[in-house]
Amino acid sequence: MAEQKRDYYEVLGVDRNADDATLKKAYRQLAKKYHPDMHPGDKEAEAKFKEASEAYAVLSDADKRRQYDQFGHAAFEGGAGGGAGGFDFSGMDFSDIFGDIFGDFFGGGGRRSSNGPSRGNNIRESVRIKFEEAVFGCEKEIEVLLKEECQTCKGSGAKPGTSKKTCPKCGGKGKIVMTTQSLFGMMQNVTTCPECHGTGQVVEEKCPDCHGTGYIAKKKRIQVSIPAGIDNGQCIRIRDKGEPGLNGGPRGDLLVEVIVAPSKTFERNGYDVYSIAPISFAQAALGGEVIIKTMDGHVSYEVAPGTQTNTRIRLKGKGVPSLRNANARGDHYVTLVVQVPTSLNAQAKEALRTFDENCGNTLQEGGTQVKQEKKKKGFRDKFKDI
Ligand SMILES: [Zn+2]
Ligand SMILES: [Zn+2]
Repeated sequence: MAEQKRDYYEVLGVDRNADDATLKKAYRQLAKKYHPDMHPGDKEAEAKFKEASEAYAVLSDADKRRQYDQFGHAAFEGGAGGGAGGFDFSGMDFSDIFGDIFGDFFGGGGRRSSNGPSRGNNIRESVRIKFEEAVFGCEKEIEVLLKEECQTCKGSGAKPGTSKKTCPKCGGKGKIVMTTQSLFGMMQNVTTCPECHGTGQVVEEKCPDCHGTGYIAKKKRIQVSIPAGIDNGQCIRIRDKGEPGLNGGPRGDLLVEVIVAPSKTFERNGYDVYSIAPISFAQAALGGEVIIKTMDGHVSYEVAPGTQTNTRIRLKGKGVPSLRNANARGDHYVTLVVQVPTSLNAQAKEALRTFDENCGNTLQEGGTQVKQEKKKKGFRDKFKDI
């Protein structure tokens, strides 16, 4: 037997009861760190990469992990002898993990198709608006850096008078194949050629104005129509205002995220609006007209006599208009909060005392004390009976 093998959990640096996500994360980190492409010719890195890959292959497979937990490395011994340690990798699917680990290694950054026309990428921007602007809609203008075709070279990227030639790096194919010797045999990675960005052609001499890109970025003011009813975090798509397409493909879109500032008065949940309105004790007791602030301005509301504090009333159709149908609006819920007066003049105090006496109450402390004591006892007695 070769040298002592390290424990798989130790190799990945995870706990023995680590879940799948933790395993994957640990392996991704190690694989990135030790991938042979990042350390050409480094035998130690290669060995570490193989070790981590093997550990992950076993521990990410529920059956193999169970066997390993029970028997350790002995579970997989007796396979083919050889340099790699005899572990059988057939039937293991690394495509998903290698796809997402290595997809971003080779400069590609998204564009898969090569020579054909492809749509430009979308651009993301955001716009801040007020609460009321979201409710009733508004027009905003934002500034976006947009790439426009370079006038000097008409988008070719070549200095006027010069022409294009076949890309020497990919031989005009627009793609390059990277071959890596790895534990799993020869691995092939097809990526977009970084030299010609998949077009298969490069310019002989770059256009001096756009440095060979074919585009010049210019600040553009773009009108954004924000519909009534939009909510915080929603996006408005403006067609064809994104990055230019490749090889005659259409432009991407501009996606404008709407950030709605909170209101001091109103809170919103979907299309309904919530607020709090103070009412005086006398208003609550006697009933009568109160003025309530809504998004359509102030409205008068008739409070019923004997309204308790925290009573919630509904103002139908005073909420936020629906994005689909501006005539359909949510409701406005108002919580009426009875205000207890804090600064009373002598007259008001006297009036309150009289009021209290008329209600049959006594303001002597002992009186209330006794009442409360009785109540408590009564409750406890009931509790006992249960
Ligand atoms: Zn140019
Ligand atoms: Zn190329």
